Amino acid sequence: MKIKVASKILDANERLAAENRKIFRNKGVYVINLMSSPGAGKTSLLENTIRALSSSIRLGVIEGDIAGTDDAARIACLGAPVVQINTGGACHLDANMINDVLKELPLEELDLLIIENVGNLVCPAEFKVGEDMKAMILSLTEGHDKPLKYPLMFQESSALLINKIDLKPYIDVDVNKIKRDALSLNPSTRIFEISCKTGEGIGEWTAWLKGLIG
Ligand code: MG
Ligand code: ZN
Repeated sequence: MKIKVASKILDANERLAAENRKIFRNKGVYVINLMSSPGAGKTSLLENTIRALSSSIRLGVIEGDIAGTDDAARIACLGAPVVQINTGGACHLDANMINDVLKELPLEELDLLIIENVGNLVCPAEFKVGEDMKAMILSLTEGHDKPLKYPLMFQESSALLINKIDLKPYIDVDVNKIKRDALSLNPSTRIFEISCKTGEGIGEWTAWLKGLIG
């Protein structure tokens, strides 16, 4: 019975996600659902991405957090349109939450919308929100065992950004194992080694994004 209820919720979510996607298509916005555990560097990646692309791509952001507006404030500082969703306890964003805030964004004026999901390696991967693509960040400090322990997010993500690569000399983590395991879960994943602190790899990521949007 519990399984039945859960699948009903997911079905309803998929229908609403498809509606969101139709809206994004009509407005000509490419949408990325950005996921990671807390502290991996989602907002820092957004800051770097906005700085790199602001002259060529019109980028908007939806911030998802259980509470607080710190992340939206960081994005607003850079002049990008941003809406903060506070889930009030829910550990992921769903299509309904996204649908509720669409009217707050100038979608016609955007080329790219990045939805920063709630920090959590588990259920954000289960709920579509209307995105064209999922991307995820794994920071080196989380360890090389995460792809095989949390396979769904790695399977669902078209891009894996391995962040905090500047810490490699200081910690015992096998970057090649992360890559190998991530590719075993999703052979077409595009992997980027980046540092939001030093800027390493950000150029490759933003060039790839530009290519996606055309
Ligand atoms: Mg954040
Ligand atoms: Zn959740």
